[in-house]
Formats: sequence, structure tokens, C-alpha cells
Amino acid sequence: MNKLTMDKLVALCKGRGIIFAGSEIYGGMGNTWDYGPVGVEIKNNIKRAWWKRFVQESENSFGVDAAILMNSRVWDASGHTASFSDPKMDCKKCKSRMRADTLISAHAKGAVNPDTMSNEEMQEYIAKHKLVCPKCGNCDWTPIRQFNLMFETSRGVTDENQNKIYLRPETAQGEFVNFLSIQRSMRAKVPFGIAQVGKAFRNEVTPGNFIFRTIEFEQMEHQQFCKEDDSSAFYSQYKEKAMNFLLDIGFAPEHLRFKDHDKLAHYAKAACDIQYLYPMGWEELNGIHNRGAYDLSRHQEYSGKSMLYTDPFNGEKYVPNVVEYSIGADRLMLAVLCEAYCEEELEGGDVRSILKLHPALAAYKVAVLPLQKNLSDAAKPLYERLKKRFMTAYDDAGSIGKRYRRQDEIGTPFCVTIDFDTLENETVTIRERDNMQQKRVSIDEAEKIIEESLRV
Ligand code: ATP
Repeated sequence: MNKLTMDKLVALCKGRGIIFAGSEIYGGMGNTWDYGPVGVEIKNNIKRAWWKRFVQESENSFGVDAAILMNSRVWDASGHTASFSDPKMDCKKCKSRMRADTLISAHAKGAVNPDTMSNEEMQEYIAKHKLVCPKCGNCDWTPIRQFNLMFETSRGVTDENQNKIYLRPETAQGEFVNFLSIQRSMRAKVPFGIAQVGKAFRNEVTPGNFIFRTIEFEQMEHQQFCKEDDSSAFYSQYKEKAMNFLLDIGFAPEHLRFKDHDKLAHYAKAACDIQYLYPMGWEELNGIHNRGAYDLSRHQEYSGKSMLYTDPFNGEKYVPNVVEYSIGADRLMLAVLCEAYCEEELEGGDVRSILKLHPALAAYKVAVLPLQKNLSDAAKPLYERLKKRFMTAYDDAGSIGKRYRRQDEIGTPFCVTIDFDTLENETVTIRERDNMQQKRVSIDEAEKIIEESLRV
């Protein structure tokens, strides 16, 4: 069958109400995307499954929903004001701005790692290999400069009295600045975790790739606060937990791999990514970092508030270490869609496109389909009943085959068909998306089958 390309996925998402280009009627706005009725359900389900695993089912994990706009001192403490930047250069011919490191990565295919190169070394590489502008094909670049990725805005009561503030470039600081409040209010004992799902904003220059890298995105993060001696064990534990979560929501093991960072931040003890095999190749899906005591120590220094934790058992005082696990909800959505998409040739030569989503992630869990339009009166009460428990679609337009295809394309795991027997004995036909098998069951049984499929 045909290979999935990003263009094909973008077209499917647009046509089936999953994801649309942002501000489309005005010609769009680069690297912004809007989730449609089907997409918002899938994304919410991804976030729900993540929260269930990393908060609900994780002992001593606490959720938080911190403000996007924070005191700008937070970003001084975190180091973002000084050094949250990408190496960029402009094409002198067509004026496109490009990231030097991504241009080199795409060319070198692993032979060199731009993360370990200085701007001068990258410039030399680009000149030596004559790397051209992907937009106009010329090799005439301005010198590489570092550009800060934070979006600035201002806050003030009068025009003269404006303070510069930032849209947060990551959610992590919301977890760190609430460490003391959460520890005290929840009487939490180290080790414990703080999790958050929320928006982050980065003024990124990107080479496309749909929702892989956008300027506005959501992160799902878990920060584990622990003693220094325990941090390596938690790092390994979170690597395993992060991988298991992906496998449990339907990823094939051969499409995922760990990749250690070649260059560590000066405070970090270890860092790795889980990469996924996207249509454009292996790229980061999530990161896991053993960050030492850097984050809380910096906030202690900049805020003047003590971040010392006192061990209730032996009175030992220390600034907790952090093991961070961070994954983009949108980047995971992209990986989930790529992983789920497939095409099957049917008898007679027709091709059906399917999103083989884990039922827990599917937008609609079931579609109610009256076999013929004159069965709508019998089908409506079933629809009313099912939608109280599950996201349920209803479709009575077109042939039954076409209606099945429409549900397959958006990943609905079950279709329930109402026919004349339903009127006699209250049974329905339930069809499974992946193997297209159908069986006749009572309505109670159909509900049970759907319910059981939703476990992650
Ligand atoms: P990258 O190397 O891809 O720029 P990063 O290492 O800067 O990512 P982190 O700051 O560690 O990423 O962010 C954690 C996670 O947030 C990433 O693994 C990714 O899933 C997601 N993420 C980061 N930047 C973006 C973005 N611009 N668009 C969508 N998701 C993002």
C-alpha cells in the first residue's frame, strides 16, 4: 500500500475535521493549526490517557494548572532570558530565516551533530558543503546569530508604565514555582511529582512538518522531586514509564527508540529523548532529563525563598533534585495519527483508509447506523442511550458501505447497525473497525464490548 506522507496526512486531517490550518480564511498563519471537531476529541483523549497514567495512577503525583503569564524574574532564574535561543541566519536572496542546526541535521543525516557545534563551526560546515536555502536554492547566507525564542508582550496599567513579560516557552517553571505551595498544602513528602498539561509558546522557524513543531503547542510534563541519591533510579524509572505509556496507547516498539543527548547542560546528569519514526524520519517525541538541583536552586537564588526540604524522618535538609519527563501533546498527536494510519485493499480492488487508533484515543467510540433511512426512528433511542456513556456518532446518509468507510477514516472502533431484527428482539450488529467482523449482540453486550475496549 502507499506510504504515508505528511501531505496525505494533512489532507486527511483537513477533510475529516481533525486539524485545519490556523486562520485559514485569511491565508493562514505560519505554523499555527486549529483542531476540528474530530481532532479536539482525539487530542483531549491523549491528554486524558496521559493524565490518568502520570497523575491518577502514579502514587504521590499532584496536578497543577499554572498561569501562562509569569513574573519575568522566573525566566531570569530559569536561564531563558539569557540563553533560550536558536542559531538562525537569513537567506540574502529570498530573505527566508532558517535554523542553521536543522539545515545541517537534514544534510548530515547523523554524520555530525550540530548541537555540539559552535556558530562558527556551523557556518564553516554550511559553506564547505554549500548548503542552499530550501526556499530559493541559493547559498548566500547572513552570519549565524542567536535569536531568543520567547514571545514578548507587555503588562501595565498605563501606556508609559509597561513591563515586559513573556508567553511561557515551557510549562516546567509552573511546576517549579509551585513546589513549596504544593509540598505544604498537600503535605507531600519527597519523593513526589508535580504534573501539568498546558500551552507553551516559542517563536520557532520551522521547515513545515505539520504539527511537529509549532509556535503554540501543549506540553504534558511530570517533574519528579527526589533526593540526589535517588535521581538516577527515578531517571531510569521514568524512561521506562514513558516508553510503556507509548506502547500501551498503540505504538509498535520498532517505531520508537531512545536517543541519549550528545551534549548535556552543565547542571544535567543525564538526558535522553524517545524518538519516533515519523514520515520525515526519526525525530524527538519526548525528553527525559535528570536535572540535578538546578531548577529549585535557581529559584531559591532569584526569589530569595528557601527551597530546602526537611526530611521528616531524619531531619536532613536538602534542595530536591528533579527528574523531568516532558512530551508535547501535539507532537504526540502527530505520532499517534502517523502510527494509526493505514490503507487496506479490499476484495474487488477498493482501498479503505483506516485510523487504527486505540479505542481510548478515538474521537467517537461508536457510530449508530440505521441500515435504511426508515429505521431512523428505531435507531435514535439507541443513539440517545449510547451517547450518555460514550462519544457517539450518528449517520444515516448514504450506503452502509460508505458510512463504514467514513467511520474507519476517523478511527471509530465500533459501528452498531440497526436493522429490522432490532425491532423484534432488541439486538444489533456490532462491527469492529480493524477486522470488519460483525456479530449480533444485545444492546447491553454491545455496551460492554465498547467499554472494555477503552482500557489503557
Ligand atoms: P526540539 O529539540 O524538538 O526543539 P526541545 O528539546 O527543545 O525540542 P523540550 O524543550 O525538551 O523540547 O520540550 C519537551 C517536549 O515538548 C518536546 O519533546 C516536544 O514533544 C514538545 N515540543 C517542544 N517544542 C515544540 C514545538 N515547537 N512544537 C510542538 N511541540 C514541541
